[in-house]
Amino acid sequence: MTFYHPAEGWSREEIEKAQLTRLRISVQQAMRSPFYGKRMAAQGLGPDSIQSLASIRDIPFTTKADLRSGYPFDFVTVPQAELVRLHASSGTTGSPVAICHTKADLNTWADLMARCMHMIGIRKEDVFQNIAGYGLFTGGLGIHAGAERLGCLTIPSGAGNTRRQIKLIRDMNVTALHIIPSYALYLGSVLKEMGLDPRELPPRIALIGAEPHTEEARQRIEYLLGLKAYNSYGLSEMNGPGVAFECLGQNGMHVWEDCYLLEIINPRTLEPVPDGEVGELVLTTLSRKGMPVLRYRTSDLTRIIPGPCPCGRVHRRIDRILGRADDMLIIKGCNFYPMQVEQVLLSFPEVGQNYLIVLEETDGMDQVRVQVELRDDHFVEDVRALKALQQRIAHRLRDEILFTPKVELVQTNSIPKAEGKAVRVSDIRKQG
Ligand code: AMP
Ligand code: ZN
Repeated sequence: MTFYHPAEGWSREEIEKAQLTRLRISVQQAMRSPFYGKRMAAQGLGPDSIQSLASIRDIPFTTKADLRSGYPFDFVTVPQAELVRLHASSGTTGSPVAICHTKADLNTWADLMARCMHMIGIRKEDVFQNIAGYGLFTGGLGIHAGAERLGCLTIPSGAGNTRRQIKLIRDMNVTALHIIPSYALYLGSVLKEMGLDPRELPPRIALIGAEPHTEEARQRIEYLLGLKAYNSYGLSEMNGPGVAFECLGQNGMHVWEDCYLLEIINPRTLEPVPDGEVGELVLTTLSRKGMPVLRYRTSDLTRIIPGPCPCGRVHRRIDRILGRADDMLIIKGCNFYPMQVEQVLLSFPEVGQNYLIVLEETDGMDQVRVQVELRDDHFVEDVRALKALQQRIAHRLRDEILFTPKVELVQTNSIPKAEGKAVRVSDIRKQG
């Protein structure tokens, strides 16, 4: 097996040795920022407090609220002249979070991204189309840099304009692409509409990520686009994509532990959970200079997949993101995550590529209505058949989320599509 980066072949001991050295450097560097300078001094902490990797637990967590409070430059550790790029997190509410990079930071990030892509068989001979927004969203420039670093002919096709995307794929003989899962499902349905056979299209590999999606969604994407799809995880606070990535085994994402320190905690007690148990992912940058972030609470829920990976890499694997701690819905006393709904819906062959969970209020009671697009060839005139399908879906949903939501079957393309990451929940309840 060839590795793009020697760290991929490191043993557990080698990884942990590098982590300890890098953690000390990161803490020292972080303390040059106004935010950590103050916070660490107040706690009496410094690089010397880090005696072992376990010492990280003495450092307080960093939250999204901390990053917001430090907006725009309180986490920066170098003079502004050394910064060359700023990204921002996609949060739609509250003040944004700005992440600043030095030239060296961008270099490390591009290398991490190239490493991910190399791991799934992308090489410089590939033609790579990056179907993602090029702006503050890190899936544009972040993935782009990795593809160029590998030496691929890289096409920054951006988001939207589906027919032009398909034309580029065909004209340029695109063999690998990056696309967010909800858009991949949509693109698949457009291919079908155009009468194109995905198996005759050139792409063989897709990177999918940036938003939660189920295994059912992945399998559909693979079928609709006629390729292998690999899960790509990252967040702006940790650079963006390139934090964790699936190998050819397609069973969990290796976290690049030489560059990120990984913890999984119980979000209520804030204590670590045992391997295999679901909790909140907490990450620390180990190789970032312009803006190190220590023990960042990502809100993303996942678990460590125990045991060795057949690919030979010992960087630990995390499971696909099950949802965000703040995504959990509580309706009629039942807790559930949008991904549980997706899992049920996409297991029905009749169901098309889009859905929406609507939270509404009738007679003072919270209700859930699940709008489900049906595939064109299943949107039959036979009202009885539709009714029966509606009931089957409602029953399966009840088994999963423990109450029966209203199910509304609608035609393909009748649910509005978001420009970027999919909006899966619409809350139209009266506020206050
Ligand atoms: P942003 O930094 O604004 O692009 O958003 C990062 C967030 O997107 C993460 O914290 C996750 O909630 C979500 N995300 C990114 N990649 C994935 C993935 N592969 N699966 C599920 N959620 C993801
Ligand atoms: Zn592996």
